[in-house]
Amino acid sequence: MTRPHDPAHDPVPHAAHDGDCTACAAPDAAFSRHDHAACSADVLARAEVLSRASGARLTPVRRRALEILLAAHRAVGAYDVLQQLAADGFGNQPPVAYRALDFLVEQGFAHRVDRLNAFVACMHPGEAHAPAFLICRTCHAVAEAPASAVRSALDKAAVTVGFQVERASIEAMGLCPQCQVAA
Ligand SMILES: [Zn+2]
Ligand SMILES: [Zn+2]
Ligand SMILES: [Zn+2]
Repeated sequence: MTRPHDPAHDPVPHAAHDGDCTACAAPDAAFSRHDHAACSADVLARAEVLSRASGARLTPVRRRALEILLAAHRAVGAYDVLQQLAADGFGNQPPVAYRALDFLVEQGFAHRVDRLNAFVACMHPGEAHAPAFLICRTCHAVAEAPASAVRSALDKAAVTVGFQVERASIEAMGLCPQCQVAA
């Protein structure tokens, strides 16, 4: 049985790998030089293992949408994903891109970046994590910073006013190191 999975609130164990997560080891990868071919291949491989384990169908169009998001540590709008899918012969009907992106978000393979109305590949698929998204307003690079302390502070603040948090997205806009230098 498959079910929607919110990694922030529905943690699953380190099932897909032996625990040495490259993204955990280098949370600043989005903002620094690194072997991105290896980094993106590692994340794609983990998504494939997780899909096989859960029975979720990583169809060619869904896989290609994930590859498009994994091309860089950047948020990509649904329209741009659609353009690239169309160029690859998957058709140019908007639902094609939206359905593929919905699948990736449900499976925890991608995150929605509300402030940019865009999507970014999750660099920790299958791991329990409560990230804060650090979003560069110039180049749209996005890093997932560990933010469990921020989450628990938010939960505490909510409890004091009797509010029950069901989902929260912590997003910070700013400038990445490269764009700070360029500015
Ligand atoms: Zn990378
Ligand atoms: Zn993530
Ligand atoms: Zn930037």
